[in-house]
Amino acid sequence: MTRPLQAIVNLDAILSNYRQAKTLAGGAVVAVIKANGYGHGLTRVGKYLAPEVDALAVATLEEAIELRAAHVTSRLLVLEGVFDAEALDTAIRLDLDLVVHSDYQVALLASHELSATNAALNIWLKIDTGMGRLGFHPDRAAGQYKQLYALSVVNSVILTSHFACADEPQRQENALQLTAFDVAARSVRRAYNDLCDSKSETTSLPQSIANSAAIIALPAARRHWNRAGIMLYGSNPVVRSVDRSVDMQSLACSMTLQSRLIAVRSAAKGESIGYGADFRFSEDGRYGVVACGYGDGYPRHAGTGTPVVVGGVRTRLIGRVSMDMLAVDLTNVPQAAVGTEVELWGPRIPVSEVAECAGTIPYELFTGLTQRVPRVY
Ligand SMILES: *Cc1c(COP(=O)(O)O)cnc(C)c1O
Repeated sequence: MTRPLQAIVNLDAILSNYRQAKTLAGGAVVAVIKANGYGHGLTRVGKYLAPEVDALAVATLEEAIELRAAHVTSRLLVLEGVFDAEALDTAIRLDLDLVVHSDYQVALLASHELSATNAALNIWLKIDTGMGRLGFHPDRAAGQYKQLYALSVVNSVILTSHFACADEPQRQENALQLTAFDVAARSVRRAYNDLCDSKSETTSLPQSIANSAAIIALPAARRHWNRAGIMLYGSNPVVRSVDRSVDMQSLACSMTLQSRLIAVRSAAKGESIGYGADFRFSEDGRYGVVACGYGDGYPRHAGTGTPVVVGGVRTRLIGRVSMDMLAVDLTNVPQAAVGTEVELWGPRIPVSEVAECAGTIPYELFTGLTQRVPRVY
């Protein structure tokens, strides 16, 4: 028998969540499938979504190359852009959209200009409105826009930024970032008006700032383009949202991490389970060993009490998670036996619940699933 652990991926659920994102956003939506499709499988997810989405996005050129090699022909955005001239050539050859966040990337485009034939790159000009990670200062938006717009290698420029606190929609940082973005957009608009005689084919100035949390809970952030990541995978990132326009139930569950019991044992009162003898039975009890551990990406910091469903019954993890196995309390699951099915997360146990027990977020659990776990579609 093969090891019973598998991640069952529901591609239809991802597509249905994409449609919900479109409805909410009201504009175009980029489906973000970086980091191996948030653990769901880059090319499988990319190929499935490509016919319907406005665009796909990945973090790195390498991910984009993999998708193009798998014949994914949709519009495809590289969120970190490229780092050298060779990568720029590849991006042009593969017809990728690129984020430009730094002077060296503008310089790469300008020097490409001198050496090569025309190409039609769509550039996402990134402004740092407060995330403090990538992008130009808002004061530089208009200048950078003009410089990019003047290059014949550039087809269109989309103004973009990223929120630091969109998962907490009430925080004032969100309003400040939006204001900074709008100020930058107005300055770009003025620059564009000065330029538009020379290049009249583009009439709108597309913008993009919303991620999943903003699509869900910051209506003012919804623009021409929106970028949905975690919500495609059934997880609502918004914490304590007053206006939960999308609740957990209405996003479809995209992955079930499923395994089976490979041993069932009884325990005497006082007996300890697992490394560190961290857990002890306070009464006589019964427990099972599940084929799933931190070597598979199940979080080691999920402690005793983390929910697990065994044979359809909700019970709890006990003791420390080991590399290949974890233990579950079967004291109240008398029908459980070797081979009984176990759900680690999925429709019965939202990944967010496991994440909370482990002091992390669904993003990390999804992307942390290792190669060892077969994805079944
Ligand atoms: C990852 C990423 C997203 C998607 O974020 P979610 O919170 O998963 O929706 C959007 N924009 C950028 C720039 C990103 O890096």
